[in-house]
Amino acid sequence: MASLLLLDWAHPAPGALRPGAVLAQASQALVLVSPWKPLVLLAVFGAWAWVVSTVYDKHAARFRLARERWNLIHLIVGLVALVVAVGIPWEHPAAFFVGLAAALVILGIDLYAYAHVANKDERVPESQRIRLDALTKVSNARAERSKSRGKIEPKLRLIAPDKSVLPPPTADTPEAEVRLAAESVYLRAMASRASSVEIRPTGKDQSYAPVFIVDGLQTPGDPLAAQSALAIIDLWKLGAKLDVADRRRKLQGTLDVEHAGAKHRVRITSVGVAGGMRLTMLIDPDGQVRREPAKLGLTDEQFKELRAIVDDPKRGVVLLTTPPDGGRTTLTYSVVQMHDAYTQRVEVLEVDQQLAIEGVRHTPFDPLAEGADFGTTARSLLRRDPDVLAVAELPDANTAKEVAKADTDRTRVYVCFRAGSALEALDSWIKAVGDPKQAARNLRGVVNGRLLRKLCTNCRVEYTPSPEMVQKLGVTDPKASTKLFKKGGQVLIKNKPEVCPVCGGVGFIGQEGIFEVYAIGDEERALVESGNLSAIKAALRKKPLPTLQAAGVAKLLQGVTSLEEFTRVTSPTPAPGAAAPSSPAPQAPPPAKGASATSRR
Ligand SMILES: [Zn+2]
Repeated sequence: MASLLLLDWAHPAPGALRPGAVLAQASQALVLVSPWKPLVLLAVFGAWAWVVSTVYDKHAARFRLARERWNLIHLIVGLVALVVAVGIPWEHPAAFFVGLAAALVILGIDLYAYAHVANKDERVPESQRIRLDALTKVSNARAERSKSRGKIEPKLRLIAPDKSVLPPPTADTPEAEVRLAAESVYLRAMASRASSVEIRPTGKDQSYAPVFIVDGLQTPGDPLAAQSALAIIDLWKLGAKLDVADRRRKLQGTLDVEHAGAKHRVRITSVGVAGGMRLTMLIDPDGQVRREPAKLGLTDEQFKELRAIVDDPKRGVVLLTTPPDGGRTTLTYSVVQMHDAYTQRVEVLEVDQQLAIEGVRHTPFDPLAEGADFGTTARSLLRRDPDVLAVAELPDANTAKEVAKADTDRTRVYVCFRAGSALEALDSWIKAVGDPKQAARNLRGVVNGRLLRKLCTNCRVEYTPSPEMVQKLGVTDPKASTKLFKKGGQVLIKNKPEVCPVCGGVGFIGQEGIFEVYAIGDEERALVESGNLSAIKAALRKKPLPTLQAAGVAKLLQGVTSLEEFTRVTSPTPAPGAAAPSSPAPQAPPPAKGASATSRR
């Protein structure tokens, strides 16, 4: 495009558009008057054309940002700038400079406009944004470097809660090595979009390994010798101002990590475990569990049903359940936020507070405290008659019994625990309470959900499934779209396949929930009372609300996820440790000392 533009300027075709004719005359005049002026213009337009035809064009292709339209815009803007630059009809010697300045402004606006629009597009990750200020940054960085001679150049700034910055160690010292190793763990987490990292003993030869959790799946990193792993753990603890000497008790703190102009909050948890220590780094902990209820992934009818359950004036008990790592904390916080914390007294009883919700009272429960009993704590909270109480964990049957027998006419109680389906949740609840009548008495609703990884829309691949598959998915509407998508991981840039820059070649980016949401009315309550599971199942199926399976198929047909991911997530045992339908208590053992922060999300 650059050459086309310049050709047009140098040799205007006969019968060109009016601006072209003006341009031709003007440029000829210019060439006759002074030979250096065209060279200045050539340099300016050449530099601009290089940026839009290589840097911008490739950027637009990579992120599918209406590349053709942008090229047309650049072409038109370039022509306008050229007309302005050489078309000023004055005879005055300053005319050239006025025209040049105007052209520079126009080309500058063009460069800025693309960068502005592209940087706002959600498909463009932070690291791939266009930085027009890059030039000024280079000189700043150079100045900084000369200042810190003799020290290593850390890539990260570790900022403690008191705003103090952890100073970089001197180059060529063991501390410098530790610092670089600690940084590389964080940088790898950032590069792979991990939500958290754990550094823990592998259980073999006293070695450690970092484990990166990306969209709910674990990827182990390279093994570390115990000594260096512990030094890395200490460095992160130091950054969060935690007691480095305490390698046994569970310690928790936060720090801000700044890298390449982006700042992330990191929650550090360290605890002594068998074979050494474990460090959990939770990146942007608030963002991970904060989600607007409407964006959980519920269908419209499910959202209406949930709203009706939340607003039910009869209060009572509602079960919020997911398999392990199924997004239970996010679900709990989202549902709690559907209550108005300014007009209602809303409380949450939880072991680890993950998020501070404005107006909501969080009661932390320390399982290690002397005489600590979850059921007793729940009972004493219930006696104070809050409008809403969320019991964010259900560690034992005793708690279930306390909640079931409490007077909940004035209190809505959300009980959150592990279950693989709404039916399994009801079954577990009945068994934990130990008496179907008691379990049914206050029951108002049950929600079950789990998380699907979302396909990267930048590289997903469309295909037509076989008629058998369509039938298997239960699509009966002949007009329904039967296009499905599978993960890609690559994009074509100028006909050459390249790793997708949005998802880093994984093919998935982010997660979304699929759910079952059922209000429990008189009819269902009577069935729960009878303890007849197959009758309950039949009654739930009769409701005009999607099952987990149907909710998943809807997401498939919308192209949100792939068939493989849907199958992985909805297969009977979605993750190890899921409560079996026949398990006697709704929850696995009480949260162990320093239970992994990732296991409850
Ligand atoms: Zn992608």
